[in-house]
This record gives sequence, structure tokens and C-alpha cells, in this order.
Amino acid sequence: MALTRVQIIEKLCKIVCENQIVTDEQVMKESSVDRFRRFEAYHGVFRLPLPAAVVHVHSTEDVAAVLKFANANRINVVPRTGHSATEGGLETALENSIVVDGSAMNKIIDIDPNNMQATAQCGVSLQELDDRLREMGYTTGHSPQSKPLAQMGGLVATRSIGQFSTLYGGIEDMVVGLEAVFPDGGIARIKNVPRRAAGPDIRHVIIGNEGALCYITEVTVKIFKHFPENIRFLGYTLNHMKTGFEILREVMVNGYRPSVARLYDVEDGSCHFSHFAEDKCVLIFVAEGVKPIADATALAIKEIVAAHDECQQVDPKLIERWFAHLNWDPANLALERTEIIETKNICNTTEISANWSIIYDLYKVCMQRVSDEIPDLTLLGAHSSHSYLNGTNLYFVYFYNVVDCEPEEELTKYHLPIKKIIVEETIRAGGSMCHHHGVGKHRTQWIKEEYDSSYYILENLKKAFDPNGVMNMGTIIPLDD
Ligand SMILES: Cc1cc2nc3c(=O)[nH]c(=O)nc-3n(C[C@H](O)[C@H](O)[C@H](O)COP(=O)(O)OP(=O)(O)OC[C@H]3O[C@@H](n4cnc5c(N)ncnc54)[C@H](O)[C@@H]3O)c2cc1C
Repeated sequence: MALTRVQIIEKLCKIVCENQIVTDEQVMKESSVDRFRRFEAYHGVFRLPLPAAVVHVHSTEDVAAVLKFANANRINVVPRTGHSATEGGLETALENSIVVDGSAMNKIIDIDPNNMQATAQCGVSLQELDDRLREMGYTTGHSPQSKPLAQMGGLVATRSIGQFSTLYGGIEDMVVGLEAVFPDGGIARIKNVPRRAAGPDIRHVIIGNEGALCYITEVTVKIFKHFPENIRFLGYTLNHMKTGFEILREVMVNGYRPSVARLYDVEDGSCHFSHFAEDKCVLIFVAEGVKPIADATALAIKEIVAAHDECQQVDPKLIERWFAHLNWDPANLALERTEIIETKNICNTTEISANWSIIYDLYKVCMQRVSDEIPDLTLLGAHSSHSYLNGTNLYFVYFYNVVDCEPEEELTKYHLPIKKIIVEETIRAGGSMCHHHGVGKHRTQWIKEEYDSSYYILENLKKAFDPNGVMNMGTIIPLDD
């Protein structure tokens, strides 16, 4: 028989210290959701089953003991670190879940400039790690917009990506080794080596698991030399997204690796660049590294862009200044909250990826359908912010006024229908429905179409590593599967 909430808390008190366990009702409410349901939450509406407790783990052994208990008693566990998830990954889908918060596991364990790697516990903030490395002349190369909020465990669990990905890659390119705890309490360490060919690369079972297979306790990432004095900013206005995609492709297929390659359409650009690019698309590049590479990359990009008459160069200082204020910290979150409550206007996003041959048509069809089918939009735009040899991503940005409805209808009337259009069009065209925010709980209905015949592999990972169904249920794989 399932344990009651009181019994769960009593047993937890025997596993960790009492002061590591929080059961306050408001905290439970806020721990039942993430940013996906923030409109409801800001209006005091919490519709999901409340967790039994939040447990602040202090060590890998704490994690192992809590998971073992949860597994034996079939209690759902929701791993958490920075709490910046956007897709419902932190939602407690089942009654009396335990939220296992790793943010107190915040030690930088080792910085090893000889082997060019750093090891950190799951609760280390990326901002803190990268600041420490920058003082020493290094960087992780990882810079998601949530850098001041997100922590190493969550960053790895979501397959996150940062603004300098075109040079440094996504988190999957950075992780050298890691430690994770599985639901039976087993602790697995994947050692730090430069490469291996000893069977499949099992790091990728853990990277991107979104807490649905295991709990990441420690991460070793690559570090890179940082040369801030060589950074070159480049910015252009242009008339057409199609031209912008062609330029991005030309840069990538010729082997250049700017750290940043971004293309904004007129609408999305108007949120950022109206002071110099009214009614124009905007193309941005950043070149960095040792001076000869940074110079050669910047020069080559200038030559590629110069072949397109419609592109007008802008003062690089405008781009440099814009970058300096791009990241979000808790003050931005507080301001956004006040604005949403006052205006009932909210912004959400959906990010997808696709090959070069389909990206422009996909952009057009999504923009057309969302603007035709969704009411009360106040802005709809998109940008590409991560490019590859084979294609790029699109990050759709949509603002809408939530009018004439209850807070819970924000999801059903606006957010979910928009996501549905973008995801369905992307899968139909052959792209991926999810570029970097994770599947969470709100793209699971398309997971079989996303994986197609390879879904067998994903499904069996879940069965093998979480046979009792206790790891963040409803995440990646739908609850009723
Ligand atoms: C303003 C803003 C900007 C953002 N910009 C970016 C961006 O540029 N790039 C990007 O990739 N993402 C971005 N995100 C999304 C988010 O920051 C990332 O997904 C980030 O990686 C989440 O890290 P976190 O520590 O906050 O994880 P959490 O929010 O705590 O958790 C995220 C997911 O990972 C799981 N998880 C957390 N910790 C662990 C663990 N130790 N073991 C196993 N599973 C775990 C959770 O269960 C959940 O499913 C942004 C979010 C915000 C709010």
C-alpha cells in the first residue's frame, strides 16, 4: 500500500537530517511547477498534485539513500537544481512526489588546467564556475541566457546549449565524465578520458535524461583558454530571412567557427534592436580565440556577407553592448513577474531544429499558421541562434494578451496551441521538435513521432533504468505509456 504523506515525511526524517526537509505549503506549491505554468502560479493557481516534501540533499550518499527509499516505496522523485526549467520538467505529475533539490551540493571540486577540465557538484551555478575560470584565464564556453540561474546538474540533464555554441558546442560536447545515482541507489561514475571506443558512449544515457532515468550528482566539463582581448563583434541589417539563412549556411559549410552566429527576423529583432534596425532583420557574429583565428574568422565572415548587397554593417559596439545585458538573473525574473501580473501579457518560446534545405519554409509556415490561428498575439517572431554544418535552430518567440479567461486557460487557449503548430509542422518537415529546452512534460505527446522507429531504444532505457517508474514520471515519456 502506498505510503501517506505523513509516513513519507517520517521516513525521510530517518534518512536525512530534519532540517534538510521542507514541507511548507507555499514552498510545495511553488515546487509543483516551473516556468511553463508561471502565468497560473503568478495568479495563485496551482493545479498539480503537491509534493510531499522538498529534500535538500548534501551529498551523493544523501541522493542514493533518498532514491533507494523512493524506489522501494514507488514514490515519484523530481530532481531539481537551478529551478529555471521552461517545459514542465519540474512539474510534480504524481501525488506525494519528493522533490530532490541538489542546489546545496555546490562545491567546485577541481579545476585542472593541465588536462583542461573542471569538476563540479550538481548544484554549482554555471555563473560561479565560469567566473572562477575567467579569473584564471579560462572559460567553460557555456553561456545559456540562464547562466546566472542554472546549475550544473540541470544544465547536463536538459542537454542545454549556450550563446557561444557554434565554437564550443552544446553541453554534450563539453561533458568529459560524470557521476549519477540510479533509482536503486547505485552510484555510477563515468571516468574522465579524452575519447573512448569501448562500446557505446554511455554518457549520452545520462546527458539529457531530464531526471527521468537518474540523478546527476557530479559533472566534469572541458575548459578552454579565454582571450577576451581578441573578441570581434559583427552586426548587419538585412531585408530577408532567406538571405540570412544562406549566409549562416555559407559560414558553416566553409568551416568557419564563429562563437556566435545569430539571425533575427524583423519582429523578434524589434524587441532587441529597434534603436538601429527598424523593420530590418539582424545578423550577428562573434569571432574569438587566439588572435590569428579570431581575425581570420571575422575577415572571412565580412567577405561572405559583402557578397550580399542587402546587408548593411552596423557599429560593432552596438552588438557588444547588447550582448553584455542578454543574460537573465533573479532581478529579471522579478520584473517579468510584475509585468505579467499588471499587463496580462506574457512571452513564451518554442525551439526546434532542422536541416538547411527545409529551415526557411518551416519558418514561413509556422509564422503563417500561428498568426492565422492564434488570437490576441501582440508579437510573433523568431531567431536562429545555433548553427551547425547540416542546419540550424529556430527559436520562436510569442507574446500574447491573456484576455477574457481564467488563468488556467492561458495554457489551453494560447501556449499549447502555439506549441502544437510549431511542433507538428517541424516533425512533418523532418526536423526535431526540441532543440535545447528539453521535452519536459508538454512535448511528450509527440515523442513517438519525434523518435519514429528509434523510440524502441528510448522506451527500453526507461524500462531498464527506472523499472519501478519513480524518476520524474511524465517527463520525456508520457505518463500513460
Ligand atoms: C530566462 C531563461 C533563459 C534560458 N536560456 C536558456 C539557454 O540559453 N539555453 C538553454 O539550453 N536553456 C535555457 N533555459 C532553460 C534552462 O535554464 C535550462 O534548461 C537549464 O539547463 C536548466 O538548469 P537548472 O539547473 O535550472 O535545472 P532545473 O530547472 O532545476 O531542472 C531542469 C530539468 O532537469 C532535471 N534535473 C535538474 N537537476 C538534475 C539532476 N541533478 N539530475 C537529473 N536531473 C536533473 C529536472 O528534473 C528538470 O527536468 C533558459 C531558462 C530561462 C528561465
